[in-house]
Amino acid sequence: MGKLKVALYWASSCGGCDIATLAIGEKILDVAAAADIVFWPVAMDFKYKDVEQMADQSIDACLFNGAIRSTEDEHVAKMLRAKSKIMIAYGSCAYEGCIPGLANLFSMDSVFDRVYTSTPSTNNEQKVYPQANVQVPEGELELPRLFSSVRALNQIIDVDYFVPGCPPEPKTTWLALEALVSGNLPEKGSIISHSSKALCDECPLPKEGKKVKKFFRPHQIIADPTRCLLDQGLLCYGVATRGGCGAMCPQAGMPCTGCYGPVEGVVDQGLHFLTALGSLIDSTDTEEIAQIIDEIADPAGTFYRYSLPVSLLRRAKTI
Ligand code: SF4
Ligand code: SF4
Repeated sequence: MGKLKVALYWASSCGGCDIATLAIGEKILDVAAAADIVFWPVAMDFKYKDVEQMADQSIDACLFNGAIRSTEDEHVAKMLRAKSKIMIAYGSCAYEGCIPGLANLFSMDSVFDRVYTSTPSTNNEQKVYPQANVQVPEGELELPRLFSSVRALNQIIDVDYFVPGCPPEPKTTWLALEALVSGNLPEKGSIISHSSKALCDECPLPKEGKKVKKFFRPHQIIADPTRCLLDQGLLCYGVATRGGCGAMCPQAGMPCTGCYGPVEGVVDQGLHFLTALGSLIDSTDTEEIAQIIDEIADPAGTFYRYSLPVSLLRRAKTI
């Protein structure tokens, strides 16, 4: 068998996933021996027309990271789908929409206003905004347009596999690449991770299931590093998050924020975490419970940090 042809692409994301593909260390040599990169704009000088000229299904696998935010993201996703036998949503943005997906809580006007005029470091008194079409002496220039909602990759094309994480841990990336290189692929639609159970199952911090009177943000308390963070009132998402990363954040004293997505069978990760928290509150008084919940800062960003576009909510109803 000849070498595999692999494409990598970065749509609307921070770029961390592209770097994460290199974090597998010396195993990259095994990948290089088994696969040729035929498209990777962040690292090599490929143009879209190079892909357009390829025959359909001529790429063996595409690792697509980033959410779908713009007409360019959508165009390239559809083009790579047609050219690729296997499409992998790599990382949380492609899998669930992730941080870019939180923009679904705001109107496009307010996003533009925030980014181009009202941040403390912006000086734009004339309120100059980027235009989709601009006339220049050489002709008309066109920029990609933004959609009003951010979407996950499988909300616009058929996706074969999902690799979770923001970004995926090297061992998770290797699990996916090893499956590709060996041809030993799981069932279509699988989420590739070392676990389908909750992160708490692999977290070594002892969990007593303590009830709490108050929830804290990490900077508000000095946590005991030998005990479960949720037992100490820190909003650790491990109970509602798929395992596989090795529970790295809790072991470093930081609560899990949920980047590996929901556990197997759960549709809405935020709701799952909310339900779990409900059973932890140390009160039967309705007013006190409401007060404890009200003190949680940024509830949308806490419960739906990675998954708003694929949640039951998907976006704010009116903005
Ligand atoms: S620290 Fe977090 S991941 Fe670890 S057991 Fe507690 S809730 Fe679960
Ligand atoms: S502990 Fe949670 S937030 Fe940290 S890498 Fe693992 S899944 Fe992601």
